[in-house]
Amino acid sequence: LPDKPAMSPSLHGWDSANGAPTPMPKRLEGKVAIVTGGARGIGEAIVRLFVKHGAKVVIADIDDAAGEALAAALGTHHVAFVRCDVSVEEDVERAVERAVARYGRLDVLCNNAGVLGRQTRAAKSILSFDAGEFDRVLRVNALGAALGMKHAARAMTSSPRRAGSIISVASVAGVLGGLGPHAYTASKHAIVGLTKNAACELGAHGIRVNCISPFGVATPMLINAWRQGHDAATADDADADIDLDIAVPSDGEVEKMEEVVRGLANLKGPTLRPRDIAEAALFLASDESRYISGHNLVVDGGVTTSRNLIG
Ligand code: NAD
Repeated sequence: LPDKPAMSPSLHGWDSANGAPTPMPKRLEGKVAIVTGGARGIGEAIVRLFVKHGAKVVIADIDDAAGEALAAALGTHHVAFVRCDVSVEEDVERAVERAVARYGRLDVLCNNAGVLGRQTRAAKSILSFDAGEFDRVLRVNALGAALGMKHAARAMTSSPRRAGSIISVASVAGVLGGLGPHAYTASKHAIVGLTKNAACELGAHGIRVNCISPFGVATPMLINAWRQGHDAATADDADADIDLDIAVPSDGEVEKMEEVVRGLANLKGPTLRPRDIAEAALFLASDESRYISGHNLVVDGGVTTSRNLIG
């Protein structure tokens, strides 16, 4: 057998000669990315990691205050905020135009924005769900991802580089049933299918299309769902109109939620954090994944490989 080839420090961050770690290169140097829903939660972690790796980032979100504050904190030279409701086509088109106008190109779109929908018993049942609420969730999660793909791919295909990476955040609810309200599950399965279809079409233009399916991450979305579920279970009227506004979770709530997720995960030890999803997004955004397209990268500590959650 030939000698084992030396590991490339640029890929592994390790010097094969003496095993000493070498500084990790910036993996998105010179690239421009849009992160939808980037103002907080998983999206914020993606924005922070992309910037750390040298990317210029446009945060596209409906939360002006949080988006502007994050852009200011990270430096407006590297990060810009654009108000964008991903379910509105003109907003998505404008976000792409702003990214190209400001930074000169678009290499990466991360379709991260999403909503979970109402958590009451009635809202979660196929016998009584509300059609308007179903439509709202599908419009943000599924149509929003499709519109992002459409306008990002137009910008990427019209550039002479003819390359790009489109990443959508789906969910383990896009892999298994029984993990979320019907609209959410339908929308996340839609993202997985859309990813495969778009990968087939856009591969000819050098554009890779992938998605990530996280398990439970203690973000405002998950903690608010937990609060709503608890309120609905204890309310006299389980269908009470529960406020969908999401308050900032306390540290105690984050810790409690992380404990619940740790209990459900097969992989014991690490706590699933927004940074873990951001690392998956970084890999799919970078050239290290240059031959990966149409893939659903599940980040779940192995839960979807067992019956722990639903069995
Ligand atoms: P979050 O609610 O904490 O953050 C979502 C962000 O998206 C917010 O900044 C919000 O303002 C923005 N947003 C909502 N609707 C929008 C719209 N119409 N247009 C633009 N921006 C919009 O949620 P999160 O937990 O960080 O979730 C991020 C993504 O990860 C979502 O797609 C979610 O479905 C997915 N996900 C989350 C988990 C989890 O456990 N937290 C698990 C699996 C998948």
